[in-house]
Order: sequence, then structure tokens, then C-alpha cells
Amino acid sequence: MRTEINRRGFVKFGLAAGAASLAPRWLAAQAAPVPDRIAQARAGALKTPIKTTKLADNVYLLQGAGGNMALQTGPEGNILIDASFATAVPGILEAIGAVSKASPDALINTHWHFDHTDGNEGLHAAGFTVVAHEKTRERLSAPQTMKLFGFTVPASPAGALPSVTFGDTMQAWRNGDTLHMAHFEPAHTDTDIYIHFKKADVLHVGDIWFNGMYPFIDEGTGGSIGGMIKAGEKALAIAGPDTKIIPGHGPLGNKAQLQKFHDMLSTVRDRVDALKAGGASEQEVIAKKPLADLDETWAKGGFSADMLIGIAYRTL
Ligand SMILES: [Zn+2]
Ligand SMILES: [Zn+2]
Repeated sequence: MRTEINRRGFVKFGLAAGAASLAPRWLAAQAAPVPDRIAQARAGALKTPIKTTKLADNVYLLQGAGGNMALQTGPEGNILIDASFATAVPGILEAIGAVSKASPDALINTHWHFDHTDGNEGLHAAGFTVVAHEKTRERLSAPQTMKLFGFTVPASPAGALPSVTFGDTMQAWRNGDTLHMAHFEPAHTDTDIYIHFKKADVLHVGDIWFNGMYPFIDEGTGGSIGGMIKAGEKALAIAGPDTKIIPGHGPLGNKAQLQKFHDMLSTVRDRVDALKAGGASEQEVIAKKPLADLDETWAKGGFSADMLIGIAYRTL
């Protein structure tokens, strides 16, 4: 059952079957063998076009096979948030070139997951300096096991590692705007940050938000349902009624939609917590279908209620 759920989840996120041999040549330099799921993700990304949406004068949303990306353009150089899969890099560079002739500046990772960082090496080779939370560099430097999906992500090659990192917060002044970055307490992982383009009022929150669907929470690298709820509160406190909020997955959103997602997670936590406190085992809680009334609205992204209940149970 678990394999079935997971397989559907990954297919939904663009990991269609395909051949690892389609990966770019420079990937061959990687020493560690790549798990099938990553190879499939890369093959799927080759066939997924990048869609560009203008959000402000010089800020764009780029959407392809991996996590949602943001792009800020301007004379001081282009700043990209997240890197999708390695095979998406040529398409990303083409999408950037279509709206800007400026040089590459920084690539900022919202967190360590490979659907947001697999393109790091190729984008770094194209001239971007990779910036992230210090834990992202730590996680990418060593193999990471994703227990729920039953595979280990190999350590990233040197060129993929962030060369600039920060702890709690960082600010940058670029292209007429102020970028404010801050670490969330462990939420989806222990590496999550947000990036706020203050003047443009665009906020990229990474995978602490899956807009309109049940999320995946990576309990193996510090994630927990309580942390996700707190991270949502932190993002809600920054956002105004007109802030354009980019989720890690799903369509562009706003504060009201993020509030709904936060409230859903709070409901999940409360229900699972009550059953767990009453002595029910994880399997018993899942069997009680405590989220049945929520499924119609939220069971849309490929991650099931059963999976989320399990994560909530284990991280409460
Ligand atoms: Zn993601
Ligand atoms: Zn993620």
C-alpha cells in the first residue's frame, strides 16, 4: 500500500518513467549511483516545459517539473530561487534568456530536496553562485535517506554545493529591491528558508506550503507537522493581503489560501493527537479515517491522507 501511494505521489510530481541515459554529459562525473526515482525525475523533467508568469516589474514565477522557481531580473544580475532537476537546466536558462539579457548572479535554494537543488551544479556551471541555509549545504554534502520513499539521495558533487550560507537571516540589495531571507524552525525539513522580495512583495516559502493539497513532510531530515504549522504562522505574519506567495508546489497563492492550508494542518494535528493520546496505534488511527471530510478538498497532490496521518502520528 505504501509503495503504491508513494509511486502515485512521485508520478504526480512529474517523475514519469524514462531513461537515465538522457541526463546531460556532466552528470556522468557523479560518483555515486543515482536511485531510479531520481533518474526518472530527471527524464520526466526533460519533457516538461518551463512556464513563465510575470508577478511584478522584474519578478517572475517559473514552473516546470520540480519545485516552483522565482526569478528576479535586473542590471545587477539575475537571481533565481530554486533549481528544479538537473535536466531542466537548459530549459531554465532558456526561460531566463527570454525575459532578461543580464548575467547570472545568485541561485538561492529554499531547502535541500532534490526537486529544488538537482539543477544546482548545472546552474553553477552557467555562472550562478549558490546560496542557501547552512543546513542545506550540510545535507547536500552527505547522502540523505528518504525513509518514506525507500531510497538514499547521494551526496551532491562539489559544484552543486552552496558556496554562501547563512544561519538565521540574510538580506541582499539587488536590482532595486531588498531581499529578506530567513530560516524557518524545522518544518518540512530542517533546512527551510523563505525569500521575500520586499518591494515587489513576492514571497517564496518553499515546501512549507503545498498550495491546495496535503503536503509531504520529511520527518527523516527534521520535518514535523508541528513545525509545518509554526512555519505557516511565520509566513502568514510576513505576508500582507496583496503579497504574492509562491508555494513549493501548486499554483501561485495568497495569504488567504495559505491561512486555509495552515488551518487544515492544525485540524490534522488536533485529530491525530487526540486519537494518539487516547491510545490508538498509528495503524488504528489511519484505519479510523479521521480526515475523510477533508479529502475532497485536499487529497489532490498525490500525497494521501493516510501518508499525512502517519507523518503526523510519528512526529507528534
Ligand atoms: Zn519539493
Ligand atoms: Zn521539499
